[in-house]
Amino acid sequence: MNKIHIKMIISLPILLLSLIMVSCTKQADYFGTYWGVHPPIQDTECSPPDIFIEIDKDHISLGLRQYAYKKMEEDADRIVFQYTEDHNGEPVTQNIGYYKEKDALVILSEDGNSDIVLIRHERYMEKKVKEYVPVELKADLSTLTEKEQEMLPHLFKAAQIIDDIYWMQAFGNKEELLAGAETDATAKYMLINYGPWDRLNANKPFLPGYGPKPKGANFYPSDMTMEEFKNFEAEEKSSLYTLLQRDETGNLVTIPYHQVYKEETEAAASHIRLAAELAEEPGLKKYLELRAEALLTDEYLESDMAWMDMKDNTVDFVVGPIETYEDGLLGYKAAHESFLLLKDKEWSNKLNRFAPLLPVLQNKLPVEEKYKQEVPGSDSDLGVYNAIYCSGDCNAGSKTIAINLPNDERVHAEKGSRKLQLKNLMRYKFEKILVPISKELIAEDQRQHIKFEAFFENTMFHEVAHGIGIRHTINDRGTVRKALKEQYSALEEGKADVLGLFMVTQLADMGELGDKDLMDNYVTFMAGIFRSVRFGVASSHGKANMIRFYYFQETEAFTRDESTGTYRVDFEKMKEAMNSLAQKILIIQGNGDYDAAKALVEEKGFIRNELQADLDRLKELNIPVDLVFEQGPDVAGLTE
Ligand SMILES: [Zn+2]
Repeated sequence: MNKIHIKMIISLPILLLSLIMVSCTKQADYFGTYWGVHPPIQDTECSPPDIFIEIDKDHISLGLRQYAYKKMEEDADRIVFQYTEDHNGEPVTQNIGYYKEKDALVILSEDGNSDIVLIRHERYMEKKVKEYVPVELKADLSTLTEKEQEMLPHLFKAAQIIDDIYWMQAFGNKEELLAGAETDATAKYMLINYGPWDRLNANKPFLPGYGPKPKGANFYPSDMTMEEFKNFEAEEKSSLYTLLQRDETGNLVTIPYHQVYKEETEAAASHIRLAAELAEEPGLKKYLELRAEALLTDEYLESDMAWMDMKDNTVDFVVGPIETYEDGLLGYKAAHESFLLLKDKEWSNKLNRFAPLLPVLQNKLPVEEKYKQEVPGSDSDLGVYNAIYCSGDCNAGSKTIAINLPNDERVHAEKGSRKLQLKNLMRYKFEKILVPISKELIAEDQRQHIKFEAFFENTMFHEVAHGIGIRHTINDRGTVRKALKEQYSALEEGKADVLGLFMVTQLADMGELGDKDLMDNYVTFMAGIFRSVRFGVASSHGKANMIRFYYFQETEAFTRDESTGTYRVDFEKMKEAMNSLAQKILIIQGNGDYDAAKALVEEKGFIRNELQADLDRLKELNIPVDLVFEQGPDVAGLTE
């Protein structure tokens, strides 16, 4: 961190002077920062730590440890350095080679069998950035009225402010972090991840000098223990909309979001109000007014209700503290995000005929009666949208292609929920990622089943599936969310995935999906798991994917062909596995069985070596892992 502070206060003349001085003292070719991965640790499934080495004219630094080094030998190919570590009072010498042509460092092992290669950190960053394929968020704005077009700039501004708030929640000081970026690629990667931790790599730091990401992000003091949280007597401590901080005496206090982020919240609210003034559709106008108010009070219920009532709008602006995934400590705190969306009315109407079928599907769930007593709101709706801006939580790391909102159970009970399918993002993911993955990992004769319609349905019914099942435990343990604590998200995502496929199957059997081959959905679902597990298991979705992957593998819903390294779906067994996994999850949720949830996640929620090797093949082929949005008023097609 020191480095960053120094950089910030250096003035231009001093900077120039120091540049001249640097160019006078000769920079050796090998100076710089290097990155590598510790080889897999035998007999554990833990992901091995990343290694950062910085080398300058006097020192070799490994993390916080710094050693003076000596140059031992140099020939045409390499230079060997030596330093001495202290292992519990015992001096241990370590050799490091710099390989000139490869421009790489190698931690040399004694027997030469376990050398660790480190590449230049800037090259690592360039590689990581390339894992995200850039796509433009745009839409045909000519279908909007003049007033709707005038609203957009205000909403873009509000969205950008929401992004600033999310930075504070996920990390802290954005500007300070970016100022420390050595290269453009590093800065880009910081922006993609909203911090120095890699969201697609188990939240490990991708920069030297940072420890692991605090589980509770910036929502709690980083030194707070669970014990301390338990003993802290404050009603608002588990609220979605408060931060926990320490007062001057070091005691925990809760502070509501609208106070912590007062300035930002007020600015965002005023932009949303300006947009509301321009709104012609009464439902949208009312929603935007109430939402602006909600940001200022942290009372979201009324605006959530208004959002559900709004039916005829073309522009939609989903905004506020919404999902709780960023709080990996307790899963209580909601992170800010916004989606600026344009509704595709034709497609939305087509999908809406499924909403009234929800109670029928709830009835068909593969569990005992007592687990399916709740009545899903039958007036919840499905909408298809094109996204023109995503900020905050939904723009961090892997990108959301469908959402199910609001999260408030009270709204669900009264009005159901809305499932938003983000069609332009879905198509990008299908074309740029899923199709290339299938060509590598799906059995050749099953590849014909990889179809966008199936991908669209699977994703859509994942969201629909969040709306059925069980929200309140059947044994007085309160809501499932509260009972399962930090395991809730992984279980709920797992439920939605498997019940999504269950619903497609049921609807097809009921003849609701027309002439369809369910095999398209099953094979595309399988390929979808590969696409998702590449995100790693840091997220709830990642853990849910791994649970399903191993469950399906153990039940032979799919098999792996050793000779081709491809996977094949068994239709009947997949159907069975889908039903039994759905049952397992619904029972854990209904019982509010925290221990069972935790056991399931711990047993299956990680990537094993065989699968990792298959995923590595995708990496070698440079198949992007996710999307990064090129977005803003001009990209969207808005002209002054
Ligand atoms: Zn979900």
